[in-house]
Amino acid sequence: MPRTRSVTVRAPAKVNLQLSVGGLREDGFHELANVYLAVSGYDEITATPADRLSLTVSGAGAERVPTDESNLAARAAMLLAKHSGAEPNVRIHITKHLPVAGGMAGGSADAAGALVACEALWNLGVTRAELASLSAELGSDVPFSVLGGAALGLGRGEQLTPLDCGATYHWVFAIAGFGLSTPAVYAAQDRHRQEAELPFTAADMPVPQPSAQLLDALAAGDPQALAASLSNDLESVATAMQPDLAKTLAAGRASGALAGMLCGTGATTGFLAADAGAAEHIAEQLMASGTCSSTLVAHGPVPGPVLL
Ligand code: ATP
Repeated sequence: MPRTRSVTVRAPAKVNLQLSVGGLREDGFHELANVYLAVSGYDEITATPADRLSLTVSGAGAERVPTDESNLAARAAMLLAKHSGAEPNVRIHITKHLPVAGGMAGGSADAAGALVACEALWNLGVTRAELASLSAELGSDVPFSVLGGAALGLGRGEQLTPLDCGATYHWVFAIAGFGLSTPAVYAAQDRHRQEAELPFTAADMPVPQPSAQLLDALAAGDPQALAASLSNDLESVATAMQPDLAKTLAAGRASGALAGMLCGTGATTGFLAADAGAAEHIAEQLMASGTCSSTLVAHGPVPGPVLL
């Protein structure tokens, strides 16, 4: 029996501990080696029975999020309805806390949250693993957003293998006053490779591999070793597009972070801290530096979307 009352889910952000970009494929995606960690920054997604599909958004950056059928959460509800033969008769409300176009997979979190909320609302009995595999057509990061935890993502990021984490890691995220478009950052990376006369297509480049050093550090629960193995191939091109990011990275590193890096395709930057106390200190210093618009102190791994 479908539920008659609202279901609210909170869905976590992610940080890429490794983002290695291989060649451009014929389908327009890149071959990637991603190491994902779900972290404790959340959007909330509420699904309420209704006589048709509708969507509203409130919270930080809501004015930059579409409310039509291009919204990833609306697409998720339609996909799940089609998959299960249900009608997508649901009112979805998203409360944004995650940065829009911030490289923390906010839109993917909303899609994952909508899948989990609608699955519960419609009482479908679809497992998390099935939701994850169904969700790959919504976006490369959505399957990870459904599962949470820590995982290796190969292919375009959607082929997931769960990873062991030996500890909870503490982070500070510096939210920029601007976003960076994911397709624009990948396109700039391809242009950069072409101009440097480097190979850039998947046919001409090896498939990127996960870093053994990173996976060992993650499993060992050693933040210092993890800090030494973080990498994001898109950091230099994103920093060239938005030079202010270099100032944020410098400020976070100077305030005692073990490492600082671009999150995904930016424009958020992430700083790994030795412990929870150090994270609070780094967040204060980052705000005092004036190089970001806000900060988020978070830890990970955390599970995927949870019913509230
Ligand atoms: P990723 O880390 O997966 O590259 P991102 O965090 O950089 O993603 P998002 O916040 O997910 O970027 O959104 C990118 C674009 O997708 C937005 O600019 C917006 O136009 C569109 N979008 C569609 N649905 C959503 C949603 N529910 N929340 C935010 N943006 C959405």
